[in-house]
Amino acid sequence: MNTATLPTAEAKYLLPGSLREAADMAAQHYGHFRFVAGGTDVLVNRFQGNEASTCLIDLGRIPDLHGIARADGHLRIGALETLERLQGDPLVLAEAPMLAEAARSVGAPLLRKAATLGGNVLCENRCLYYNQSEWWRESVGYCLKCNGDICIATGGRNACFSELVSDTAPALIALDAEIEYADGQAVTRTPLERIYTGDGVAPRNLPPTAIVTALWLPLGRGFTWAFHKLRERQSLEFTSLTTAMTLDSGGRIKVAMAGVDPRPVVVEAAATDDPEAVVRKAIKGARAIDNDMFTRLYRREMIGVYLRDSFNTVTAARM
Ligand SMILES: Cc1cc2nc3c(=O)[nH]c(=O)nc-3n(C[C@H](O)[C@H](O)[C@H](O)COP(=O)(O)OP(=O)(O)OC[C@H]3O[C@@H](n4cnc5c(N)ncnc54)[C@H](O)[C@@H]3O)c2cc1C
Ligand code: SF4
Repeated sequence: MNTATLPTAEAKYLLPGSLREAADMAAQHYGHFRFVAGGTDVLVNRFQGNEASTCLIDLGRIPDLHGIARADGHLRIGALETLERLQGDPLVLAEAPMLAEAARSVGAPLLRKAATLGGNVLCENRCLYYNQSEWWRESVGYCLKCNGDICIATGGRNACFSELVSDTAPALIALDAEIEYADGQAVTRTPLERIYTGDGVAPRNLPPTAIVTALWLPLGRGFTWAFHKLRERQSLEFTSLTTAMTLDSGGRIKVAMAGVDPRPVVVEAAATDDPEAVVRKAIKGARAIDNDMFTRLYRREMIGVYLRDSFNTVTAARM
């Protein structure tokens, strides 16, 4: 184990070499620590004053968290695999090309060298009124997500609608992926969509000491797929709307969206259903508010544009 002191944040920095060691450290620093994978989300939040744990536990040296392999009828991807690896990995390209595309859509090349899959599905929800410097947030008055009393973006509501911005989460959910995490001795595997709460202040319900170990994607489902991402600059930008749609060989359609709600918006349908009914359901499920570079109305409109196009793509690919 190595320890060091961060110059700017005055946190203890721990480097466990095994899952067991990481779990012990988490137990020892319960309530005051944060896991770090690539650090591309958590460290930016620290610099903006939105994350202030006094202990950082870097998971980068734990061998169990790496690897991409077929196992038990699934593709198992270690949580610490980088998005750069995913976008070019032969197994991922062969078995889950939509995930490779989703990984490629995240940020920019330099970021994807460090950013991991586990960190991506757990990256913090975002809002124009929250992802600002400390002095900015102080000057407008703090909102619910930073210990204030009201939601500023909605003009005073008592709920937070910060957006899920992970681009791989909708792709993984549309592919029926499961997340695996270890908490002490217990290992749990559950559909990925179940870890998201829909509450922008506390967007996930994993136990505080849980370490995400892998994502499991089912094989042999014959998915055709379509993926879209709306953002201001193609070269580097968080999502304003991500849509992922799959059609499996049994005729089942699954839609998952990010960027328009605190949680992934998920809609399931049959290939024979009226596409407009699916679009209406997706738009109804998206609690988008005006806390993004694009207006709420535009993003809701774009849900229809992307999903109609996706419907055509997934059904045409089946013919
Ligand atoms: C300029 C810029 C652009 C970006 N653009 C995008 C974008 O387009 N799309 C997008 O989705 N994201 C984007 N991001 C956010 C971020 O870079 C990615 O989400 C990235 O994949 C996060 O992965 P990471 O490994 O760096 O996570 P970290 O920052 O290390 O961690 C993120 C969170 O996950 C937790 N965590 C990480 N791994 C584990 C684990 N194995 N077990 C338990 N907890 C864990 C950490 O405690 C932390 O809370 C961007 C960031 C920046 C700075
Ligand atoms: S949606 Fe409201 S409460 Fe949530 S981060 Fe934005 S301003 Fe704050």
